[in-house]
Parts: sequence; structure tokens; C-alpha cells
Amino acid sequence: MTDRIPLIAGNWKMNLDHLQAIALIQKVAWTLKDADHDYSKCEVAVFPPFTDLRSAQTLIEAEKFEVALGAQDLSKNDSGAFTGEVSGAFLQKLSVKYVLIGHSERRQYHGESDELVRDKVKAAWRNKLVPIICVGETLEELETQGQSAVPIAQTLAALSGHEKLGEFVIAYEPVWAIGTGKVATAEEAATVAAAIRTALDKEFGSEAANSRILYGGSVKANNVAGFLQSDQVDGVLVGGASLDADEFSGICRFQKHIVL
Ligand code: PEP
Repeated sequence: MTDRIPLIAGNWKMNLDHLQAIALIQKVAWTLKDADHDYSKCEVAVFPPFTDLRSAQTLIEAEKFEVALGAQDLSKNDSGAFTGEVSGAFLQKLSVKYVLIGHSERRQYHGESDELVRDKVKAAWRNKLVPIICVGETLEELETQGQSAVPIAQTLAALSGHEKLGEFVIAYEPVWAIGTGKVATAEEAATVAAAIRTALDKEFGSEAANSRILYGGSVKANNVAGFLQSDQVDGVLVGGASLDADEFSGICRFQKHIVL
């Protein structure tokens, strides 16, 4: 048993405008309310596009929903001549709690390096945001280096060189499992999470090693419970399935499927 509260995080990617965002958040929150969801036992967060955040914040505050708000990225800088970038300071003003950093789509399509990921982690902490650091191996890396090497290296790179570590979450997302329908087995996810935890313990100590580690990659309501059977996996990062209120709510209610 762990004292870590599971986190179910829905990464909407570049989907849904601000009106659609309001409708989806309402539906998720009401569905979970009808199901008597206990947010103190399982945290739920949504990560809409930047342009939806103000509407989402207003709705969540007005309706006193317990769903937390996250952003999909942030700038390493807090202000200045950085056209198109979004500051962590602005996100903080929108009551954003979490920020995804180093998602494989950012690493792949925007060339984000481990160094940039580290700077973004620093920017998140500077602005009182909790970074969800995404790590994971490609199919080629899986074949040449095995499953844990790249996730561990990316985790240590993101967390090295800081004066002091703030709160963080690691999301282990094998690149070959994102949006592909191919899913790591629950045992594979638990093994990699355990390997990341051991590396965190060795490098940064027991507090860092007690951070939450999520699994992500083609998670659905019908496979989520398997991942969360393990003490090593503290939640899931969900892409495609987070766009459907019933499916996402089903994922949030995973505890109903686990026989303890
Ligand atoms: C993701 O984008 O982080 C993700 C896990 O996507 P999907 O669930 O669609 O594989």
C-alpha cells in the first residue's frame, strides 16, 4: 500500500474549442458527481488547449467542481520577447495546478531536448505549478536499449542541476503506445515505474522516489484497472479517451473495477 493519491490526467491535445471544453468538463464533473466520486481518493485533472483555460477556470470556480486544471506546455521564460510562448506566470493566474512537460509530441515535433525540458521544469516550479514530466522510449529505443533506459535517462536529465527539487509527477509513456492502440502490459508499466523509482531514490533520495508515477499510452476504461493494480503506478495520463466524457469518467472510476 502507498500513501500516494492516484491522479487521472486527461490530455486533450489540440482538440476542443472553449465552448466544447465547457461542455466536456460539465459532463465529466456531473457524471462523477452522480457516481459519488471521492476526489480525495482519486484526483482528476484535465489539460485543455491554452485558449480554453480561462473558460475552464471560470466554470470550475463557479460550479465548485473538484476537477483540477492543467496546461499542455509552458515557456521556459516568464515574460518578454518570445512570440507565441505562454508563461507559467500566466498559467498560475488561471488557477492551473499541473503542466505537462516534455510530452513525446513536443519532443518529436518541436525538437524539445532534455535541456529544454529541465528549464521548463524550473519555470514550472518558479511559478508554483506541478510539472508532469513525460518520459518514454520509441520502438527503436525499446529494441536497442530495452524499456527502462530512456525513461530513466530522461527523468534524471529533467531533474538534474536544480538547486532544490519541488513537487513533480513522472508520466511514463512509451512512444509506441501513444495514440496507436498498442498498450504496454500492466507488468511492463509496473516494471518501468519501479525502475524509475529506484533511480530517483539513488539520485535524489526517498522523498523524490515517493513521487507519483503515471502510465500513459492508449489507456481506456476497460484496461485502466490493470495498470493501477500495482503499487508502483499512481495514475494514468490519458489522451484520446479523455475526449469522451463517459469513457474518461469510467477511467476515473477505476477503483470500482479493482478487487482489493
Ligand atoms: C497522451 O497523449 O499522453 C496519450 C497517452 O495518448 P493516448 O491515450 O491517446 O495514447
